[in-house]
Amino acid sequence: MAEEPPLSEERSEVERLDKKYVFGTWSFQSEVDPTEVVGGEGVRFTDGSGDEFIDFSGQLMCSNLGHSADAVADAIAKQAQEGAYFAPGFATEARARLGEKLAEVTPGTLSKTFFSTSGTEAVEAAIKIARMYTGKQKIVSRYRSYHGATAGSISVTGDPRRLKAEPGIPGAIKAPDPYAYGSTLDPMESLEYIDEMLMLEGDTVAAILVEPIVGSNGILVPPEEYLPRLKEIAHDHGALLICDEVMAGFGRTGEWFGCDVFDVTPDIMTMAKGLSGAYAPLGATIVTPEIADHFEDELFCHGHTYAGHPVACAAGLAAVETYQEENLIDHASEVGDSLGDRLEELADAHPSVGDTRGVGLFRGIELTRDPDERVPFGEREDKISTGSTVVDDVAAAAADEGVYVANMINTLIIAPPLPITEPDIDEAVAALDTALEVSDAAMDR
Ligand code: PLP
Repeated sequence: MAEEPPLSEERSEVERLDKKYVFGTWSFQSEVDPTEVVGGEGVRFTDGSGDEFIDFSGQLMCSNLGHSADAVADAIAKQAQEGAYFAPGFATEARARLGEKLAEVTPGTLSKTFFSTSGTEAVEAAIKIARMYTGKQKIVSRYRSYHGATAGSISVTGDPRRLKAEPGIPGAIKAPDPYAYGSTLDPMESLEYIDEMLMLEGDTVAAILVEPIVGSNGILVPPEEYLPRLKEIAHDHGALLICDEVMAGFGRTGEWFGCDVFDVTPDIMTMAKGLSGAYAPLGATIVTPEIADHFEDELFCHGHTYAGHPVACAAGLAAVETYQEENLIDHASEVGDSLGDRLEELADAHPSVGDTRGVGLFRGIELTRDPDERVPFGEREDKISTGSTVVDDVAAAAADEGVYVANMINTLIIAPPLPITEPDIDEAVAALDTALEVSDAAMDR
């Protein structure tokens, strides 16, 4: 075991224990230095020193309901008391009613759901279902994408997080992205490239898997015609369209799902994060009746002990009911429009803001050290940790101003809880206004 690094006297007991006994995610362990958090209320949370932050990224773009959704907390407690766990072979009311609810809120005929406990598991299930249904093995996904950390989902992930896991599963093929600001390929041209790819792969591709609006790789919103055409391309080549809605789903975009923004129903959709508002670990993979029917006669060779965990499903059901009862999807659309306007004002005021983009409460601020040439701030030396140090510094400066904002690959990712109000947005944008002075000062001049 490596020698224990010296501990700062300023660390709390929780921070010291955590540092010593917990493996940090996606990090050099020597750099892991977590801040203790003690609670949250609405769109804010509080750290161990009592400092309060506006949660402008909804933690990992998942706390869509904020930190005090009592109906969800009560549903969890009730289910845990009445029957915390029954094996997936039993039907529970929570799972059955959540299945029915997902058929109601997802588009088109999507109606039968496999439940799991995370986004990565939802994607693993989607890959297996697509392969079994089509009898084909290849999955086409895109470079600027994230689909999870387990063997299959990291293999179909395109960003540098996949590199340590390579070669990954066979048959994972990457295509270019609709990234108007930073790619030399026009988004619609990138589609024709995918069309050609599928033609050249012959009849061997099971599915095209995309985030309808790319999340952690920089909030990439394709043109209106992109997703409908992508579905057409997939079907022309006998492949399915899988939409990964793990981050874009459940009101984030001001619609129920990212694919609703483009009026497209995929063949398979994956969900997690906002599905339970992050009150419980819950993932889901929903399919059309045609795909579900296929498994009447082919063994669905997949499952987990915690598939359809009653407590997680109770949380999911209460979360979806809360989106509906509190009209949070429409609210996200309304306040999302003014958030977009406020971010454009930031872009006008700060030369280091290269681009702001997004829909609803799903927005990104991409930084640049040279706006004319659109040059990103430098990459990290290891090339695997995503993002530049400048974007980290901007996020740290925002935290000093009382706003927590996530960042990846030169982009600040803004995805607050849906109940956020205009005054909260004003407060958070004022903090970003101060924080962006850090990137302005780091530009090439
Ligand atoms: N898919 C997308 C689009 C994601 O953004 C994520 C996580 O950020 C995942 C899948 C993986 O989800 P999880 O971290 O719950 O495994």
